[in-house]
Amino acid sequence: MPQPDLVVRGQRVITPKSDGPASVHVRGGRIVGVYEYDDAPDGCEMFDAGEFVLLPGLVDSHVHVNEPGRTRWEGFETATRAAARVGATTIVDMPLNSVPPTTTLEGLREKLEAARGRCRVDVAFWGGLVPGNLGSLAALREGGVVGFKCFLIPSGVREFPHVTEGELLPALYEIARLDAPLIVHAEMPGPVERALSSCCEGDAAGDPRKYETFLRSRPREAEDEAVALMLRLCRETGARVHIVHHSSSDSLQLLREAKTGALPFTAETCPHYLTFASEEIPDGATEFKCCPPIRERENRERLWEALADGTIDMIVSDHSPCPPEMKRRREGDFLKAWGGISSLQFRLSVVWTEARERGHTFRDLARWLAAEPAKLVGLAARKGSIAPGRDADFVLFDPEADARVTPETNEHRHKLTPYEGRELKGEVLATFLRGEKIYERGRFPESPSGELLLRGSKPSSDWDEDD
Ligand SMILES: [Zn+2]
Repeated sequence: MPQPDLVVRGQRVITPKSDGPASVHVRGGRIVGVYEYDDAPDGCEMFDAGEFVLLPGLVDSHVHVNEPGRTRWEGFETATRAAARVGATTIVDMPLNSVPPTTTLEGLREKLEAARGRCRVDVAFWGGLVPGNLGSLAALREGGVVGFKCFLIPSGVREFPHVTEGELLPALYEIARLDAPLIVHAEMPGPVERALSSCCEGDAAGDPRKYETFLRSRPREAEDEAVALMLRLCRETGARVHIVHHSSSDSLQLLREAKTGALPFTAETCPHYLTFASEEIPDGATEFKCCPPIRERENRERLWEALADGTIDMIVSDHSPCPPEMKRRREGDFLKAWGGISSLQFRLSVVWTEARERGHTFRDLARWLAAEPAKLVGLAARKGSIAPGRDADFVLFDPEADARVTPETNEHRHKLTPYEGRELKGEVLATFLRGEKIYERGRFPESPSGELLLRGSKPSSDWDEDD
């Protein structure tokens, strides 16, 4: 066995195979072996996690960094600080809300220019599928994007329009040929337009300060129809399809059928759908607005069941911040406010707080927050688990700590978040990226050491082959 230059060990090391004592041997920033706790050669650097939990570096495959072009909303420096603080050693940036969007090779180049040298964690990139850019997809894939995102309903920004079924079909054949996943904002416009005209227009219009009015404007049917459409297209084209930020429990049955049929069809949900309930959202509290919406308590519990039985594969943040004035907090108008929740830094503690109440384990956390997102973006050979060959990315987590969300410890560019003031269980004590500490108890090293992960720019063993 190769001589390690660092050994990280502890009593609760969460690997794909176990959750007990182990000693992780690291050489040149990579894990070279996982052995018995006492198996630690003399003379190498040693870090002992003691009784704290050692999790794999988390992977957050759904983050809107908004840079370049909307750096006032967020940015690589602030977003990756927040990521380091929550133990997310890899984030994957969304192709929209930045200007230009990542829908052309030129857009990707500008994105890389904005990110280079500024990231405290590793960053990979999604490309975008929009009407008319079918011819750019191969170049984007060649340029290193992990896959493509599209919307089935207006996205909220003009430069990233949604696609129709007619545009999806040829795109899915092309995306299958490129062996990339298509991730889909799955809401259909029809049910939303019908709901809007009945609940939000005319004399019978609901009060826009009431969450209930907004909830009625984004009915479950919009998601259910979209999931059904994508399932049909997945079957027809064989392309890999992934549903982002799934909220409606009414379409869980369809997701189950996809799993039973062994289709290349996966889904994620987000901490806010698993934590909040529409019944409890105060009037005017627009920091809770996102699309699809946070639904009822009963819906939330069914999402937890779907995570438990593997119907939903992962939990990612969908961190989608904006300047506070766009949330129109003063008027409290849910219909006019920007839809997006700021949450990158809170995913681990928020999920742990809820998961422990429902009897879930650290291995569940490692699967939902690290291994499955890494697999989605083709990085499972390098990220998302404590196993030989992977990067030496770790999170030192104190699961019993009581932590409160405050603006002082919030690293996001803007502090407005629905988690403000919330008492959470668990705290990240330190984060390691390739064997180097990039965060420890409120402190960061001077210079950022994150890499830009581009498919094709490294030896191919770093990226997963076809599956
Ligand atoms: Zn998003």
